[in-house]
Amino acid sequence: MKDLPSPSDSETLSPALAALWMNVCAELTGRIGEAEFERWFSPVRLVRLEPDALWFSAPNAIYSLWIEENYLSELTASICAHLPTHPPVRFEIAAAPTMPLPAPADVAEPAPKVEQEPDAAAFRHEKLDPESIPDTEPAPVSGRTPADRKRIRQRGEDAGLSEGYRFDNFVVGNANRIAAAAAKAVAEKPGKTYHPLFIYSNSGLGKTHLLHAIGWDSLTRRPKSKVIYITAERFANDYVEALQENRLVAFRKRFREADMLLIDDIAFLSGKSGMQEEFFHTFNSLTDRHKQIVLTSDRPASEIADLEERLVSRFKWGMTAEIVMPGAETRLAILRRKREERGANLPDSVLEFIAEHVSTNVRALEGAMLRAATMSSLHEGELAVDPDELRDLLADYLDDANTSRHISVQEIIELVATHFDLHPRDLTGKRRTSRLVEARHVAMALAREKTSLSLADIGKEFGGRDHGTVINACRRVTSKIESNASTRRTFDFLRRSLLAPAPARPRGGQKAAK
Ligand code: ADP
Ligand code: MG
Repeated sequence: MKDLPSPSDSETLSPALAALWMNVCAELTGRIGEAEFERWFSPVRLVRLEPDALWFSAPNAIYSLWIEENYLSELTASICAHLPTHPPVRFEIAAAPTMPLPAPADVAEPAPKVEQEPDAAAFRHEKLDPESIPDTEPAPVSGRTPADRKRIRQRGEDAGLSEGYRFDNFVVGNANRIAAAAAKAVAEKPGKTYHPLFIYSNSGLGKTHLLHAIGWDSLTRRPKSKVIYITAERFANDYVEALQENRLVAFRKRFREADMLLIDDIAFLSGKSGMQEEFFHTFNSLTDRHKQIVLTSDRPASEIADLEERLVSRFKWGMTAEIVMPGAETRLAILRRKREERGANLPDSVLEFIAEHVSTNVRALEGAMLRAATMSSLHEGELAVDPDELRDLLADYLDDANTSRHISVQEIIELVATHFDLHPRDLTGKRRTSRLVEARHVAMALAREKTSLSLADIGKEFGGRDHGTVINACRRVTSKIESNASTRRTFDFLRRSLLAPAPARPRGGQKAAK
């Protein structure tokens, strides 16, 4: 394996620690597989052992966050196998990466079998010569005159960027931390870190905001670079128009000469093979020129129906980051930020009420706040904080019965197990009879729909399965619901059962009433 640490990597490490690290790497490779190890651990180094922590260095926060979220138990187990004590693992960010960053891909799924064209492979590892692209390299941000700023704003508008979506008004929490860090990394070093960056989430969770923020930040650093923000729908329409008006050459030139292509809602291309073909060539041409592409989608690439395999595999070349609904604390921070931006006169107690009762998406959160702000501007003084009044005023934004109470994966597992006459342990266990597999898939799909957990977290709740397994389960359930009326009825019944407060439902081996 190419990047196993050698003693020369760790000149300052004692021989004992260097040996420990070698052993841990070997153990870890056995546990998570060579491909995953190489993708996430090859640039990681053991730095030192302190009485209360074992310190590692990672090239940037994305590695440490990802490892902590996805591989901590394997890493800890590998350490425990070779060390008598069990110090907690800590990360520090390396001052300068000791080696070029690999392009981490969506790790929980098997590494895509990409037909690697020579250019694509080169793209990942080659260091670009900055001299070769003088116009698009960062200019010092300090020393910008008002005229410079005006020019940047103009170029941003021409690129299709909206003024209000910047990194500095994007509130970062656990739900979006990896996506935000990756977005910053590509804005700082387009084409050199993650290619492409693929961000997915349900609607209203900040994908478009992040895309625009990448565009602005990148333009501020490289005012002469050519950034394009476009929705996939608009890309498709422009393509058709160009085709009809015999302007394909100009259309292609426009996109293929970009330094950064930010393309929103790529799932729109589903089933549109002509557009997919066109986009495939655009993608390749930008890749060949080491340019940056960022894509967003409401689902992972492999879940987009009727998307050509060659596009799916390309979308997985780089980094995939999911955004989930932020928790109540981050929701409150977002509301405070929006209140400040809008100059709204609302007390904290109203924001707290909204943060607690709106958990569908951030767009709804903002909508509820704006309605409250409008109401408040009609009031003399501050808006009354009477919960009943607020409830009436914001009724259509508040979580309906469907989502107003927290639904846990455990609850879903119990409900589904009861319905299928199984024990909850069967759903998290390893046995694979067809009945068990069906129940497990249904439970995973319900968890995906009814909780805001990430795919990886859902997988963990089901006996430590990976996120690819959850995707697969959801896909099977969706297609079975479409083709089989009895599955559809079962799924709807279980969905409705979750509306009822948990204690009201029958439990413990009793089959649910149908
Ligand atoms: P998506 O593209 O995922 O559907 P948007 O980017 O359009 O979502 O976000 C919807 C609204 O929520 C926007 O007004 C956006 O500014 C806001 N928003 C989402 N996430 C955040 C966040 N973390 N911080 C601040 N605003 C956010
Ligand atoms: Mg959007």
